[in-house]
Amino acid sequence: MTYPLSDSARRLQATARRFADTFLIPHEVHAEMHEGEFPAGAEAAAVAEAAKLGLRAMNIPKEAGGGGLSYVEQTVVSEQIGRVTNGLGWCINTPARCLYEAATPHQMETWIGPTIRGARSECYAITEAGAGSDVDAIASTARRDGDGYVIDGEKWHVTSANHADYLVVQAKIAGGVNDGTHALFFVDRESSGVEFLRTPAYTHTYAHHHPIVGLQGVRVPAANLIGKEGEGMAFTHDWFRYERMMIAARCCGAAERLIEEAGAFAGERTAYGKPIGEYQLIQAMLADSLTELWAARLMVYRLAEAHDAGDDAKILHGQCSMAKLYASEMANRVADRAVQIFGGRGYMRENVAERFFRELRVDRIWEGTSEIQRLIIAEQLRKRGQAALIG
Ligand SMILES: Cc1cc2nc3c(=O)[nH]c(=O)nc-3n(C[C@H](O)[C@H](O)[C@H](O)COP(=O)(O)OP(=O)(O)OC[C@H]3O[C@@H](n4cnc5c(N)ncnc54)[C@H](O)[C@@H]3O)c2cc1C
Repeated sequence: MTYPLSDSARRLQATARRFADTFLIPHEVHAEMHEGEFPAGAEAAAVAEAAKLGLRAMNIPKEAGGGGLSYVEQTVVSEQIGRVTNGLGWCINTPARCLYEAATPHQMETWIGPTIRGARSECYAITEAGAGSDVDAIASTARRDGDGYVIDGEKWHVTSANHADYLVVQAKIAGGVNDGTHALFFVDRESSGVEFLRTPAYTHTYAHHHPIVGLQGVRVPAANLIGKEGEGMAFTHDWFRYERMMIAARCCGAAERLIEEAGAFAGERTAYGKPIGEYQLIQAMLADSLTELWAARLMVYRLAEAHDAGDDAKILHGQCSMAKLYASEMANRVADRAVQIFGGRGYMRENVAERFFRELRVDRIWEGTSEIQRLIIAEQLRKRGQAALIG
């Protein structure tokens, strides 16, 4: 039995699949050989098509110019985008919904609105050299000064900073009644004191880089504060929850593509006089992969339904961790098996399994490592009990 998705979710699934197959997947090998870049003109075509199909800013309500999709619908779209390597699917931007909800009219007009329309783009600067898993250990500060704040710090792994024209920076308030609490700020890329200190090379071949960004005496108006002083961590947790669910969805898409491609290859490639797909050792790898993908997909769809139903955020927090943990570990196992099925071809960068084998590794690290997901799940189990988490 296939999962009982609504007709609109099925339609979106088909639309997103066609979009990925037509506008993204054909450019993967070019991207792999050209620092992650699309061929000339292809990115603009993909961005325009995504906007036409309602796939851009899909998490933002329609009345604000977004796609207005339910969580289940966003999940099926993300799954199809997850079938694509080289970060080409990132041409569909989804600004954090919690920032949209917290935005003042000025912030809506200056940052969030243009981001929804695709006229501006953001990056998230939370992690630091001494604070990754333990976000509370950040050393960046925001000190109130007259009618604004002065921000100092150094942020690591700032994804897409080379494409973004503003950063969402997390810092601790220094001084005043909220001293030591977390806050988020909109910081324009061109602000005085913002400097890209270094752009390290990473495992994947993406056009979106992850530079180390220095913030030295960066002065921003008080109007750039998102929400209130002390609310920074709540926004970050909200964003983590959403991203963990979407990472899980993308990992399911990656596994789907890998099983398709490795399965097709196993049907064609002959060894010892017959297709390798007729050997039970190969069949076992495909069978394990499909079984694990099904389990992950059921988790992700059910989790998205729970979001749509407005379930308790604390329970969802634990469930997002379970979905992200399981789906990311599953996809890595599937990629490893796919490389094995492709044999020597699976080690070539022009092969989808080779690229996913490298690219999926980070899904066990970013937005909270697998160890951190386990800690969250264990803590939720201790606090709320098994029935609350899994019924
Ligand atoms: C490609 C990439 C893109 C990223 N993009 C962004 C971004 O856009 N913005 C941003 O702010 N951050 C970003 N990050 C940062 C990412 O979220 C962190 O790398 C991640 O949260 C882990 O933090 P860390 O690297 O400091 O590892 P650490 O926290 O130093 O962890 C090192 C190891 O110790 C383990 N560990 C830590 N604490 C515990 C514990 N209590 N118990 C058991 N094990 C533990 C971890 O699981 C890990 O195995 C990105 C990272 C990467 C690699």
